[in-house]
Amino acid sequence: MARATDSTPSTSLTALAAAVRSGATSAEALTEHALERIRALDGELGAFLHVAADAARAEARALDARRRRGETLGPLAGVPIALKDALCTHDQPTTAGSRILVQRRPDGSEHPWQPPYDATVVARLRAADAVLIGKTNLDELAMGSSTENSAFRPTKNPWDTTRIPGGSSGGSAVAVAAGMALGALGSDTGGSVRQPAALTHVVGVKPSYGRVSRYGLIAFASSLDQVGPFAADVRGAAALTAVVAGHDPRDATSLEAPVPDYLAACERGVAGLRIGVPEEYFAAGLDPEVEENVRAALAALAAQGAVLRPVHLPHTRHAVATYYVIATAEASSNLARFDGVRFGLRAGERAELGRMYERTRGAGFGREVKRRIMLGTYVLSAGYYEAYYLRAQRVRALIKRDFDAAFAEVDLVATPVSPTVAFPLGSRLDDPLAMYLADVYTLPASLAGVCAVSVPCALGRTSGLPVGLQLVAPALEEARLFAAAAAWEDVSPGRGLCPPVHAPAAPIVAP
Ligand code: GLN
Repeated sequence: MARATDSTPSTSLTALAAAVRSGATSAEALTEHALERIRALDGELGAFLHVAADAARAEARALDARRRRGETLGPLAGVPIALKDALCTHDQPTTAGSRILVQRRPDGSEHPWQPPYDATVVARLRAADAVLIGKTNLDELAMGSSTENSAFRPTKNPWDTTRIPGGSSGGSAVAVAAGMALGALGSDTGGSVRQPAALTHVVGVKPSYGRVSRYGLIAFASSLDQVGPFAADVRGAAALTAVVAGHDPRDATSLEAPVPDYLAACERGVAGLRIGVPEEYFAAGLDPEVEENVRAALAALAAQGAVLRPVHLPHTRHAVATYYVIATAEASSNLARFDGVRFGLRAGERAELGRMYERTRGAGFGREVKRRIMLGTYVLSAGYYEAYYLRAQRVRALIKRDFDAAFAEVDLVATPVSPTVAFPLGSRLDDPLAMYLADVYTLPASLAGVCAVSVPCALGRTSGLPVGLQLVAPALEEARLFAAAAAWEDVSPGRGLCPPVHAPAAPIVAP
């Protein structure tokens, strides 16, 4: 059983940013600490694909110099942030966990793609004075639930290194869980922020579709993709969301809605808030220790004045099938751009064009990505389009209607995030359906375009492993998520617990 250690104040992103702004600590100290943790732990954990040590040090020193000159630093002053490697960075390589973006030169040397621009969220982090510490591991092109589909190496769960950390943003979750970064960004198409957050005991947010710009996020399924933050606590996640949210003219799906004060929302409490509990999410297949901890969290919210009500989301059982038709269809189209011509790998240099495409895609994509391209091409092909793709779109509308009906009666919906705790590495690799079922509870909110958060519960009674509570709110009501998540976190027995690898504590004192 994993042994949790007490946390130190050093995991609070908001407290540490305030300490950098006041001069109580420095961006350089936080950055050196993060780099030291990466050096000590990441050989084993495999959370990072690229560590930007020199650039991070230079950014940190420049921030400290600006503060000494009397400048007021931004909301993420000096805080080391890790980025899922599906986000474009002009000064760091970007692979999306795939060999398709790694060029092989005639001399045998390998060169990961270097984008010519920053994703909008990356530019916003820089503008908020964050330190960008590196790029994190993921399932290839964000397809997976365990980070084992990375073309480079699996990421391990710091609570038990024989287990998966969840995915596809497993590297970002582990970077935060193991104290190698104070916050991180991932992307969530069907659960890829929430599920790894739950399995590693950190907070993970999937904002509403359109809340956060996707410009510069390597696309998987464009009607579902959303960038989302990770942090050790709810306030940290709220602070990060506030920085990345908001309209971006470069993303046509980005909404023109004002961004409320998410940090203030964390202090609002839950008195009078109506929380719906959908019985479809507490059915067969749910681990008893997960159910026990989620129900304990609901009881704690009720004790603070929230009103629990049963609700029904009857189309939940169709979510996995619906998602895997729509997401693979969109992926088959999005991934057409990886053809050996414009970026990354090119195989069969001297072959005829069609053969060059074939060889490049054959060599560059892994098994799961190929499976999805074939599935997605099939469901879109003439004769099958109506039977699969169109039908899936109709069921998607029903799933969305389920949420509309529930939100007519309650303010939030509360569910488990994952039906099980972290499973052993390798245990589902030969069984794609078992892997897909890891997302049964996260897919519906993605299909409905609403927002959701995963917030840690107590550790599981039998496994000693992390369990997450999912809160779901209507589109653009992220503030409501933060209010309830913070109210639970403030009284949670799991609050501040860190995995055994987290010790020794940071040599940093937040005020
Ligand atoms: N696990 C899901 C999939 O493999 C979701 C992935 C994601 O959200 N990027 O498609």
